[in-house]
Amino acid sequence: MAGEFGTQFLPQMAISYYEGGWSQEKMVPSDSLTLHPGAHVLHYASTCFEGLKAFRQADGGVAIFRMDKNIARFAQSTRLMCLPELDIAQTERMIVDSVAHYKDSVPDAPASLYIRPTHIGTEPAIGKAAARSDTAIQYILLSPVGDYFSGGEASLRLLLDDQGVRCGPDHGMVKGGGNYASALKHIERARASANADQVLFCPGGNVQETGAANFILVDGDEVITKSLDESFLHGVTRESLLELARDKGMKVSERELSIDELLERAARPHCEAGLTGTAAVVAAVGTLIHDGREYKVGDGKPGPVIRNMRDELNAIQWGNVPDTRQWLTRID
Ligand SMILES: *Cc1c(COP(=O)(O)O)cnc(C)c1O
Repeated sequence: MAGEFGTQFLPQMAISYYEGGWSQEKMVPSDSLTLHPGAHVLHYASTCFEGLKAFRQADGGVAIFRMDKNIARFAQSTRLMCLPELDIAQTERMIVDSVAHYKDSVPDAPASLYIRPTHIGTEPAIGKAAARSDTAIQYILLSPVGDYFSGGEASLRLLLDDQGVRCGPDHGMVKGGGNYASALKHIERARASANADQVLFCPGGNVQETGAANFILVDGDEVITKSLDESFLHGVTRESLLELARDKGMKVSERELSIDELLERAARPHCEAGLTGTAAVVAAVGTLIHDGREYKVGDGKPGPVIRNMRDELNAIQWGNVPDTRQWLTRID
C-alpha cells in the first residue's frame, strides 16, 4: 500500500444530505465536497466520525468487523454533538453498499479497507454559535490501508500527563474532530520535549487514554483498564479484546489505575502494556515517561501476551477461525 495511513481514497463515496430528513443516498466522487465557507462545522465544529474496517477473508470473501457497534457509537456521537439523528438502517446500507461496490479493492490481510463514516453540520449560519445546524451531510469515505506493523513492531513511548486534558470531561465519548484538536497541543509538546509517540492522559493522576487509543495493562493473567465512564472513548477493540481475554480465563479488571500503581506494576519483569484501536488492534507500549524520568514496561520490548491477543483478534477478523460471536458482516 503506497503512502501513509489514510492518504489513499477509493474514487467514490456514499453520501446523504439532511434537510428536515435524510435524502436518498447516492455514490459521488470522493475527491471534493462543496461547502459554504460559513458552514456550521467549519466554525462551531459540529462533526463526528467513525473508524471501522473491512477485511479480505481466508475464503476470498469480504467482511466488515463489528459494524453494528460502530454505527451505534456514530449515533451516540451524533446526539452528543447535536447533529441531526441518523437513520441507522440507512447508514448501515451506505456502509454495506459502498464496500460491496469496491469489493474487489479490499486488499488481502494483513492490509484492509478502512471505512470512515463522517457527519458534519453544513448550515451556512455563523450566527448559530449557540444553536444546532439545521442541515447536515453524512458520507462514507473508503481508504485501503496497509499492515500497521509493516515497518516492524516497535514499542511505543508514552508521556504520562496529569496536567493536560484531552477534551472536556463530559465529551469523552464523542468521536469527533473537536476532541482531536484539543489534544493536539499536548501531543506536540510531548513529542518535542520527551520524544514521546503519544500522551497518556491521566487526569487527577489516574490513567484515562491517549489521543486516539485506549490503554491496557497486562500483568500476568490479569488485564487492567479503566472502567467505562463518559470521560473517554469506548473502543470497540478494547471491548473485543476484553471479551476474548475473559473467555480464555484471564482476569479482567475494569477500574481506576493510578500513575503510582502503573509505574509499580510496569517494573515487574513480565508486565506488558498496549494501546488498543482499529488501526493496529493493539500496539505494545515499551516506555512510560513521567516527571522527566523513563520507566520500562517489563523488558521494554513487545511481549507475548499482547502479541497473542492481537493474533487472536486478527484470526477472527481475517476469517481464519469461525466467527462464533457474530462479529463479522459478510459482503456477498
Ligand atoms: C477511535 C478511538 C479509540 C479506539 O476505538 P476503536 O473502536 O477501538 O477503534 C480510542 N480513543 C479515541 C479517542 C478514539 O477516537
